[in-house]
Amino acid sequence: MSRRRIIAGNWKMNKTPSEAVELVETLKNLVKNDDVDVVYCVPAIDICPVAEAIKGSNVQLGAQNFYIEDKGAYTGEISAPMLKDAGVKYIIIGHSERRDIFGENDILINKKVKKAFEAGLSPILCCGESLELREAGVYADWIKRQIKWDLTGLSADQVKNLVIAYEPIWAIGTGKTATADQAEEVCKLIRDYIAELYDAATAEEVRIQYGGSMNAANAAELLDKPDIDGGLIGGASLKPDFGQIVNA
Ligand code: PEP
Repeated sequence: MSRRRIIAGNWKMNKTPSEAVELVETLKNLVKNDDVDVVYCVPAIDICPVAEAIKGSNVQLGAQNFYIEDKGAYTGEISAPMLKDAGVKYIIIGHSERRDIFGENDILINKKVKKAFEAGLSPILCCGESLELREAGVYADWIKRQIKWDLTGLSADQVKNLVIAYEPIWAIGTGKTATADQAEEVCKLIRDYIAELYDAATAEEVRIQYGGSMNAANAAELLDKPDIDGGLIGGASLKPDFGQIVNA
Protein backbone atom coordinates (compact mmCIF):
# COMPACT_ATOMS: atom_id res chain seq x y z
CA MET A 1 0.00 0.00 0.00
CA SER A 2 1.14 3.53 -0.46
CA ARG A 3 0.86 5.87 2.45
CA ARG A 4 -0.33 9.42 1.85
CA ARG A 5 2.37 11.99 2.54
CA ILE A 6 1.75 14.41 5.40
CA ILE A 7 3.60 17.72 5.73
CA ALA A 8 2.76 19.55 8.95
CA GLY A 9 3.97 22.95 10.08
CA ASN A 10 4.57 23.42 13.79
CA TRP A 11 4.27 27.17 14.21
CA LYS A 12 5.21 26.88 17.92
CA MET A 13 4.67 30.17 19.85
CA ASN A 14 4.84 32.35 16.75
CA LYS A 15 2.31 34.60 14.98
CA THR A 16 -0.36 36.78 16.50
CA PRO A 17 -3.88 36.17 15.13
CA SER A 18 -3.51 38.87 12.47
CA GLU A 19 0.01 37.68 11.52
CA ALA A 20 -1.34 34.13 11.31
CA VAL A 21 -3.99 35.13 8.78
CA GLU A 22 -1.33 37.00 6.80
CA LEU A 23 0.88 33.88 6.74
CA VAL A 24 -2.02 31.72 5.51
CA GLU A 25 -2.53 34.25 2.74
CA THR A 26 1.21 34.29 1.84
CA LEU A 27 1.34 30.48 1.63
CA LYS A 28 -2.03 30.09 -0.11
CA ASN A 29 -0.88 29.36 -3.65
CA LEU A 30 2.42 27.74 -2.59
CA VAL A 31 0.95 24.81 -0.64
CA LYS A 32 -1.61 23.65 -3.21
CA ASN A 33 -1.04 19.92 -3.66
CA ASP A 34 -3.87 17.42 -3.65
CA ASP A 35 -1.51 14.45 -3.21
CA VAL A 36 -0.29 15.58 0.20
CA ASP A 37 -1.96 16.23 3.56
CA VAL A 38 -0.93 19.77 4.45
CA VAL A 39 -1.42 20.79 8.09
CA TYR A 40 -0.83 24.00 10.04
CA CYS A 41 -0.42 23.35 13.78
CA VAL A 42 -1.01 26.82 15.15
CA PRO A 43 -1.01 28.45 18.61
CA ALA A 44 -4.37 28.10 20.44
CA ILE A 45 -5.29 31.76 19.97
CA ASP A 46 -4.82 31.45 16.19
CA ILE A 47 -7.07 28.41 15.77
CA CYS A 48 -10.34 30.26 15.05
CA PRO A 49 -8.95 32.88 12.65
CA VAL A 50 -6.86 30.26 10.81
CA ALA A 51 -9.88 27.91 10.59
CA GLU A 52 -11.68 30.73 8.81
CA ALA A 53 -8.70 31.69 6.62
CA ILE A 54 -8.08 28.14 5.27
CA LYS A 55 -11.73 27.52 4.33
CA GLY A 56 -11.99 26.17 0.79
CA SER A 57 -8.28 25.29 0.61
CA ASN A 58 -6.45 21.96 0.88
CA VAL A 59 -4.93 22.93 4.24
CA GLN A 60 -6.04 21.14 7.41
CA LEU A 61 -5.94 22.56 10.90
CA GLY A 62 -3.76 21.29 13.74
CA ALA A 63 -3.10 22.32 17.33
CA GLN A 64 -0.07 22.01 19.60
CA ASN A 65 -1.46 21.15 23.03
CA PHE A 66 -4.48 20.41 25.21
CA TYR A 67 -5.29 19.08 28.68
CA ILE A 68 -6.65 15.56 29.22
CA GLU A 69 -9.96 16.51 30.89
CA ASP A 70 -12.99 17.52 28.82
CA LYS A 71 -13.94 20.57 30.93
CA GLY A 72 -13.87 21.98 34.43
CA ALA A 73 -11.65 23.83 36.86
CA TYR A 74 -8.36 23.78 34.92
CA THR A 75 -7.55 27.46 34.63
CA GLY A 76 -5.62 28.32 31.51
CA GLU A 77 -6.17 25.01 29.72
CA ILE A 78 -8.14 23.97 26.65
CA SER A 79 -9.64 20.54 26.02
CA ALA A 80 -9.66 18.10 23.12
CA PRO A 81 -13.45 18.52 22.51
CA MET A 82 -12.91 22.30 22.34
CA LEU A 83 -10.24 21.82 19.67
CA LYS A 84 -12.48 19.44 17.75
CA ASP A 85 -15.39 21.87 17.84
CA ALA A 86 -13.13 24.65 16.52
CA GLY A 87 -12.29 22.59 13.43
CA VAL A 88 -8.97 21.06 14.52
CA LYS A 89 -8.09 17.69 12.97
CA TYR A 90 -4.48 17.01 14.03
CA ILE A 91 -2.87 17.48 17.42
CA ILE A 92 0.85 17.40 18.21
CA ILE A 93 1.52 15.32 21.33
CA GLY A 94 4.83 14.61 23.07
CA HIS A 95 6.93 17.27 21.34
CA SER A 96 10.38 17.46 22.97
CA GLU A 97 9.73 21.08 23.95
CA ARG A 98 6.69 19.96 25.97
CA ARG A 99 8.63 17.06 27.44
CA ASP A 100 11.71 19.12 28.35
CA ILE A 101 10.37 22.60 29.15
CA PHE A 102 6.94 21.67 30.54
CA GLY A 103 7.86 18.35 32.16
CA GLU A 104 5.41 16.14 30.25
CA ASN A 105 6.20 12.46 30.72
CA ASP A 106 5.20 9.33 28.81
CA ILE A 107 2.35 8.55 31.21
CA LEU A 108 0.69 11.91 30.49
CA ILE A 109 1.53 11.63 26.80
CA ASN A 110 -0.17 8.23 26.64
CA LYS A 111 -3.29 9.72 28.29
CA LYS A 112 -3.24 12.56 25.77
CA VAL A 113 -3.01 10.18 22.80
CA LYS A 114 -6.02 8.22 24.13
CA LYS A 115 -8.02 11.38 24.81
CA ALA A 116 -7.24 12.77 21.36
CA PHE A 117 -8.64 9.62 19.70
CA GLU A 118 -11.68 9.70 22.01
CA ALA A 119 -12.37 13.30 20.89
CA GLY A 120 -11.94 12.47 17.20
CA LEU A 121 -8.56 14.17 16.76
CA SER A 122 -5.59 12.58 14.95
CA PRO A 123 -2.45 12.62 17.09
CA ILE A 124 0.97 13.48 15.69
CA LEU A 125 3.03 11.71 18.34
CA CYS A 126 6.62 12.95 18.64
CA CYS A 127 9.58 10.93 19.81
CA GLY A 128 13.31 11.38 19.57
CA GLU A 129 16.62 11.24 21.39
CA SER A 130 19.01 13.85 22.80
CA LEU A 131 22.54 14.27 21.50
CA GLU A 132 23.89 12.50 24.61
CA LEU A 133 21.75 9.42 23.92
CA ARG A 134 22.73 9.39 20.25
CA GLU A 135 26.42 9.65 21.07
CA ALA A 136 26.08 6.94 23.71
CA GLY A 137 24.61 4.67 21.01
CA VAL A 138 21.42 3.94 22.96
CA TYR A 139 18.96 5.94 20.81
CA ALA A 140 17.18 2.86 19.43
CA ASP A 141 16.30 1.57 22.91
CA TRP A 142 15.25 5.06 24.01
CA ILE A 143 12.86 5.52 21.10
CA LYS A 144 11.35 2.05 21.49
CA ARG A 145 10.80 2.79 25.17
CA GLN A 146 8.98 6.06 24.29
CA ILE A 147 6.83 4.33 21.67
CA LYS A 148 5.95 1.47 24.00
CA TRP A 149 4.83 3.79 26.83
CA ASP A 150 3.06 6.28 24.58
CA LEU A 151 1.04 3.61 22.73
CA THR A 152 0.09 1.53 25.77
CA GLY A 153 -3.54 0.43 25.55
CA LEU A 154 -4.11 1.62 21.98
CA SER A 155 -5.78 -0.67 19.46
CA ALA A 156 -4.25 -1.57 16.10
CA ASP A 157 -6.99 0.47 14.38
CA GLN A 158 -6.01 3.53 16.41
CA VAL A 159 -2.32 3.06 15.61
CA LYS A 160 -3.16 2.80 11.91
CA ASN A 161 -4.58 6.32 12.19
CA LEU A 162 -1.64 7.69 14.10
CA VAL A 163 1.14 9.87 12.74
CA ILE A 164 4.48 9.39 14.48
CA ALA A 165 7.10 12.13 14.13
CA TYR A 166 10.69 11.09 14.66
CA GLU A 167 12.42 14.25 15.84
CA PRO A 168 15.99 13.91 17.08
CA ILE A 169 16.27 16.69 19.66
CA TRP A 170 19.75 17.61 18.45
CA ALA A 171 18.27 18.49 15.05
CA ILE A 172 15.34 20.65 16.24
CA GLY A 173 15.87 24.34 15.58
CA THR A 174 19.63 23.82 15.37
CA GLY A 175 20.05 23.84 11.60
CA LYS A 176 21.68 20.42 12.06
CA THR A 177 19.53 17.96 10.09
CA ALA A 178 19.84 14.21 10.49
CA THR A 179 21.17 12.75 7.25
CA ALA A 180 18.54 11.02 5.15
CA ASP A 181 20.13 7.68 6.09
CA GLN A 182 20.08 8.47 9.82
CA ALA A 183 16.43 9.56 9.62
CA GLU A 184 15.44 6.50 7.56
CA GLU A 185 17.22 4.14 9.97
CA VAL A 186 15.09 5.34 12.90
CA CYS A 187 11.82 5.66 10.95
CA LYS A 188 12.27 2.05 9.80
CA LEU A 189 13.12 0.99 13.32
CA ILE A 190 9.87 2.57 14.55
CA ARG A 191 7.88 0.82 11.81
CA ASP A 192 9.50 -2.54 12.62
CA TYR A 193 8.76 -2.04 16.29
CA ILE A 194 5.08 -1.29 15.53
CA ALA A 195 5.00 -4.59 13.61
CA GLU A 196 6.40 -6.31 16.70
CA LEU A 197 3.92 -4.63 19.07
CA TYR A 198 0.93 -4.99 16.71
CA ASP A 199 1.20 -6.63 13.28
CA ALA A 200 2.61 -6.09 9.79
CA ALA A 201 -0.59 -4.49 8.44
CA THR A 202 -0.60 -1.87 11.21
CA ALA A 203 3.08 -1.09 10.64
CA GLU A 204 2.43 -0.72 6.93
CA GLU A 205 -0.32 1.86 7.51
CA VAL A 206 1.10 4.05 10.27
CA ARG A 207 2.56 7.26 8.85
CA ILE A 208 5.98 8.29 10.11
CA GLN A 209 7.39 11.79 9.68
CA TYR A 210 10.87 13.12 10.13
CA GLY A 211 11.31 16.45 11.92
CA GLY A 212 14.40 18.48 12.68
CA SER A 213 15.62 21.41 10.57
CA MET A 214 13.86 20.13 7.47
CA ASN A 215 13.94 22.85 4.82
CA ALA A 216 13.48 23.49 1.11
CA ALA A 217 17.01 22.27 0.37
CA ASN A 218 17.00 18.92 2.21
CA ALA A 219 13.31 17.92 2.08
CA ALA A 220 13.35 15.96 -1.19
CA GLU A 221 16.19 13.66 -0.12
CA LEU A 222 14.57 12.94 3.26
CA LEU A 223 11.09 12.43 1.80
CA ASP A 224 12.44 10.08 -0.82
CA LYS A 225 13.24 7.44 1.80
CA PRO A 226 10.83 4.49 1.94
CA ASP A 227 9.89 4.79 5.61
CA ILE A 228 9.64 8.60 5.77
CA ASP A 229 6.06 9.56 4.96
CA GLY A 230 6.30 13.26 5.61
CA GLY A 231 7.75 16.01 7.74
CA LEU A 232 7.03 17.98 10.87
CA ILE A 233 8.47 21.40 10.15
CA GLY A 234 9.25 24.15 12.66
CA GLY A 235 11.21 27.17 11.45
CA ALA A 236 10.67 26.63 7.73
CA SER A 237 6.88 26.37 8.17
CA LEU A 238 6.75 30.12 8.79
CA LYS A 239 8.27 30.96 5.42
CA PRO A 240 7.46 30.48 1.73
CA ASP A 241 9.96 27.56 1.90
CA PHE A 242 7.08 25.55 3.37
CA GLY A 243 5.51 25.47 -0.09
CA GLN A 244 8.69 23.99 -1.53
CA ILE A 245 8.67 21.27 1.14
CA VAL A 246 5.01 20.46 0.40
CA ASN A 247 5.92 20.08 -3.27
CA ALA A 248 9.32 18.38 -2.78
C1 PEP B 1 9.87 20.97 15.45
O1 PEP B 1 9.93 21.70 16.43
O2 PEP B 1 8.97 20.13 15.38
C2 PEP B 1 10.88 21.13 14.40
C3 PEP B 1 11.09 20.13 13.60
O3 PEP B 1 11.53 22.34 14.36
P1 PEP B 1 12.62 22.81 13.25
O4 PEP B 1 12.08 22.42 11.90
O5 PEP B 1 12.71 24.28 13.44
O6 PEP B 1 13.88 22.08 13.57
